Amino acid sequence: MLELTIEQISMGQTAADKPAALQLLADKLVADGLVAEGYLAGLQAREVQGSTFLGQGIAIPHGTPETRDLVYATGVRLLQFPEGVDWGDGQIVYLAIGIAAKSDEHLRLLQLLTRALGETDLGQALRRAGSAEALLKLLQGAPQELALDAQMIGLGVAADDFEELVWRGARLLRQADCVSGGFAAVLQQVEALPLGDGLWWLHSEQTVKRPGLAFVTPSQPLRYLGQPLTGLFCLASLGEAHQALLERLCALLIEGRGQELGRATSTRAVLEVLGGEVPADWPSARITLANAHGLHARPAKVLAQLAKSFEGEVHLRLVDSAEPAISAKSLSKLLSLGARRGQVLELIAEPSVAADALPALLAAIESGLGEEVEALPAATAVADKVAEIEPEISVQAPLAGQRVQGIAAAPGIAVGPAHVQVLADFDYPLRGETPAAERQRLQAALTAVRADIEALVQRSTVKAIREIFITHQEMLDDPALTDEVEARLKQNESAAAAWNTVIEAAARQQESLQDALLAERAADLRDIGRRVLAELCGVQTLEAPDDAYILVMDEVGPSDVARLDPARVAGILTARGGATAHSAIVARALGIPAVVGAGAAVLLIKPGTPLLIDGQRGLLTVEPAAEVLEKALVERYSREQRLQAAAARRHETAVTRDGHAVEVFANIGESAGVAAAVEQGAEGVGLLRTELIFMAHSQAPDETVQEAEYRRVLDGLAGRPLVVRTLDVGGDKPLPYWPIAKEENPFLGVRGIRLTLQRPQLMEGQLRALLRAADNRPLRIMFPMVGSVEEWRAARDMTERLRAEIPVADLQLGIMIEVPSAALLAPVLAREVDFFSVGTNDLTQYTLAIDRGHPTLSAQADGLHPAVLQLIDITVRAAHAHGKWVGICGELAADPVAVPLLVGLGVDELSVSARSIAEVKAGVRELTLAQAQAWAQQALTLGTAAQVRALVENT
Ligand code: PEP
Ligand code: MG
Repeated sequence: MLELTIEQISMGQTAADKPAALQLLADKLVADGLVAEGYLAGLQAREVQGSTFLGQGIAIPHGTPETRDLVYATGVRLLQFPEGVDWGDGQIVYLAIGIAAKSDEHLRLLQLLTRALGETDLGQALRRAGSAEALLKLLQGAPQELALDAQMIGLGVAADDFEELVWRGARLLRQADCVSGGFAAVLQQVEALPLGDGLWWLHSEQTVKRPGLAFVTPSQPLRYLGQPLTGLFCLASLGEAHQALLERLCALLIEGRGQELGRATSTRAVLEVLGGEVPADWPSARITLANAHGLHARPAKVLAQLAKSFEGEVHLRLVDSAEPAISAKSLSKLLSLGARRGQVLELIAEPSVAADALPALLAAIESGLGEEVEALPAATAVADKVAEIEPEISVQAPLAGQRVQGIAAAPGIAVGPAHVQVLADFDYPLRGETPAAERQRLQAALTAVRADIEALVQRSTVKAIREIFITHQEMLDDPALTDEVEARLKQNESAAAAWNTVIEAAARQQESLQDALLAERAADLRDIGRRVLAELCGVQTLEAPDDAYILVMDEVGPSDVARLDPARVAGILTARGGATAHSAIVARALGIPAVVGAGAAVLLIKPGTPLLIDGQRGLLTVEPAAEVLEKALVERYSREQRLQAAAARRHETAVTRDGHAVEVFANIGESAGVAAAVEQGAEGVGLLRTELIFMAHSQAPDETVQEAEYRRVLDGLAGRPLVVRTLDVGGDKPLPYWPIAKEENPFLGVRGIRLTLQRPQLMEGQLRALLRAADNRPLRIMFPMVGSVEEWRAARDMTERLRAEIPVADLQLGIMIEVPSAALLAPVLAREVDFFSVGTNDLTQYTLAIDRGHPTLSAQADGLHPAVLQLIDITVRAAHAHGKWVGICGELAADPVAVPLLVGLGVDELSVSARSIAEVKAGVRELTLAQAQAWAQQALTLGTAAQVRALVENT
């Protein structure tokens, strides 16, 4: 992304005229490797088409579409000309910003700049700037306007006391992105100032991002510190932006008109009194912007000029943004929208000019504002989705009989009609009939959705699933949302438009939170948002077929899977997703066969089309021919027979035909899971994911609670070994009660052992609870995500220190091999650890550099990739050289094709989900160690995962 930095700035340049200035800029861009020679011609041609003078002494020279190929990298270079350069028409430039851009990334730069462009005398200040730092400050740090519009006013909000009212005010500021999270807490610490007439004032500069003022009045009379409380101002203060407002407010109070504010029932009246941005209750029209590079300088200039030709006001806003409308006559404001191709613009014109202005402006935008535009594709929901996944490739629905390779996500063969679920598009008017009529429609929609969710709550037998829907109910009833919608209805917005804008703004605000788990709640907000919109717009959700069906979706989240009724959903097929994504793990747990990441074309399959999916091989067959279906059903039958036979022998050990024993353990995530694991034949627990135990508690479990949980597992194992993994959380898997800073790359961030070593108290608490629970039973503790010897030693030393206090007779300490560096260091680590357990889910992700949940790439993240097998081989050989054992606890251990290879590589233990134990044991019994070793050695010589699979499947 483009940002302005001092390295891009060259101070004190001189140029006799504009061509000389362009030459200087082009030389700079070439010298810095951003563009090829010849870009100068583009800069010149662009100036011929129209001056790039922006105002305030700034010009933004850039190339033409024809010279875009000469751009090596997007970037900018800034030249300061203190003596000025005549840019034509007497416009003097003191700062030329040369842009090298392949795409419309420079819109972001214009957005940054236009904050500064509102300043008076910026040109002179830029001219006088003595250093690159000072110049940058001028460009970035210009005082900003005080945000004060309809969204910042909350009249008659439900509040029982002062604190609650403060919270509501702070929330409005957060939603307008004026402050970061925590502003409410900041305001609660500030001393409130009584203004008289029941009005109170609070302000702070802490956590403020841009200045803004919120005004809230309570729905019932309140008192604070013995005085009436009829209205509260909450100011997010930054610089002098609020000065004018303060003066106006003082004048109002002196005139004795303060009560007007406390009693106000209309947002508009408050804004008029305070001088805020009054919402235009004017005719409006919408149009989708088709310009390839968005509303950049040239088309924006044309638009502003046209808008200026009308006497009255014309405003413009982006429909999918919570930002207020701006004047269409202001070039800098138009640029500050950062409007991109495909975004919907809303034009709002003063009634006196609307009849002329709106059609003229719409026509101008439609014809490209002076640019050639390619028509936007006809928007159907499916086509949009498909384009979103594979923008460049035209996709077609797979034909009858066609086989599509996806990712094997949950085993089993499923047959059934396709039930394609694609998010619908909603079409609704922006303006409503009357506020009363719209309110009624919204209430009816909310009631219907509430009833629908209630039915889901009643139907769900799983606590976690019920809780998801109870949260949805609470979100629907959140007065803050409904208050804001109400304010918009009063401004004559339609119920759908008001609801959509408020939900979208709330979801975005939620997404921006530092805490990753809270940010994830944005998806829930959008989920309920869509349900209500569907009601309002009369969009029917497709009825599911009566027969057990194959659910076809773009991408499926864990909560979507959890919502499914396994009796009605025979199988899952998705366009995107990966095998180790948590949704796939949930599908396996529910026993629903799943193929994921099968590509965008599957979304085009006609509802009702017969599908056959093979969750073992990751294969989809569309409208299978009778003989193909027959073969699959025979295979399903024989697999069921095999599974039945395997289940009957689940309590026996797994020994190869030539007498080599392999231990088969269980992966569990809750203490209660131990009984089922033992019942399914587990010889021990090979991975207790303790973070899942933590997640099952609404607050951090203390040592006593943890000890009880671990005891329960050890009791259930009745002497069998327990391998426990210490807490494995981070930005990728956050805990609700420990805010974890949002990271750009959480998988490469502070997760696993890195996090717990940073919070030693927490880790010590867990270790103490484990050691206490052991009671001399076989306890193995392992540390997740170890990448260095230092991490292992720090974790070991901590454990040994505690062990001196709490002795345990049968304790082993080991590490998970999840990071390639750990595998490569295995020969060193093996001297010190008691065991290794290979987490193939993460090891594959880090070895192949493919996010395990990546929507399109994770198909290639196959744990049987020879590169991963090499790392396992290194690990096993190192461990055995020092007499240590190696387990595999990633999903690969349960893959029937992988079992012979892992056994052949010498792995001592396979730890799988309880329902896979019998099958894995049966797989081991079918082998001879000699054959497995031969396969493994051959696999190590191969180059692709497909070759490895073929080796086992075809031999
Ligand atoms: C793994 O990475 O293989 C593993 C078992 O850990 P998790 O799936 O919990 O990250
Ligand atoms: Mg892992």
